Amino acid sequence: MEKIRAKKALGQNFLVDGNVIANIIRAADVGSDDRVLEIGPGKGAITSRLAGTAARVVAVERDRELVPLLRNSLGEYDNIQIVHGDILRTDLSLLLPPIWAGQWKVVANLPYNISSQILFKLIEDRSLFTELLLMLQKEVGDRLVAPPSCKDYGVMTVLCGLYFDIERVFSVKPASFRPVPKVDSVVLRFRVLPRPRIDVGDERLFGRVVKASFAQRRKTLWNCLKAAGFFTADGILQEAFDLAGIDGRRRGETLSLEEFATLTKSVLSHTH
Ligand code: SAM
Repeated sequence: MEKIRAKKALGQNFLVDGNVIANIIRAADVGSDDRVLEIGPGKGAITSRLAGTAARVVAVERDRELVPLLRNSLGEYDNIQIVHGDILRTDLSLLLPPIWAGQWKVVANLPYNISSQILFKLIEDRSLFTELLLMLQKEVGDRLVAPPSCKDYGVMTVLCGLYFDIERVFSVKPASFRPVPKVDSVVLRFRVLPRPRIDVGDERLFGRVVKASFAQRRKTLWNCLKAAGFFTADGILQEAFDLAGIDGRRRGETLSLEEFATLTKSVLSHTH
């Protein structure tokens, strides 16, 4: 592919290490029945290898300069669709043929500047997928597998823990990319659970409770939930903590997934 200057604003760090590319392809374990969504194909380092084994590859690339080059260099494959678009604004349930809903794999070396937004979107659209194999900035990967009370434990850890089994596959050094990034990377596998790991009562409310609990990490749960406006009366907020059996003086970062579920159900029962 001809020389194109990498665009920092699009998180462009292209993989140039053949061993890492081979390891990603091996870990993705794409067979002839698999349908794959690739986010940010870039110059096609992973895309061509995916197309060689998958039934179908849909690749969404935001950089309009790369799209014609990708179409040209991948022209020999009739199972690839290169889509010019912003993944965050793409309606995946329309893009991915519904007949295969629930059977797609996602494989991506993500643009790190928007990886959290992409993760939130993949959580929303998880019913389309069986598994995600994602390269992320190491710090983000650490957050996703952190235990409670650890500084890395946060909103994303709890939400991803509800919907995915997450496994660290391998780490990747900056020298494997061009331009060379300042950060280390990690490849994680997310297996989509057939249903949420535990019953949380109301998934939207669960998301709101978790986000509110981490909004001010140094404040108590009581203050966080009060600031988020779940209840105007202190007495009712206290009742919700009492019913959940959770001390409102604790910090959000100490709660396990199960405790967040219990707290959500208690909040729910006090808002009806
Ligand atoms: N897959 C290629 C590789 O491994 O060499 C490129 C990975 S690079 C880290 C991220 C890619 O995502 C870039 O090609 C970038 O243009 C693309 N990208 C950035 N923001 C995007 C968005 N919102 N939607 C789709 N693609 C995006």
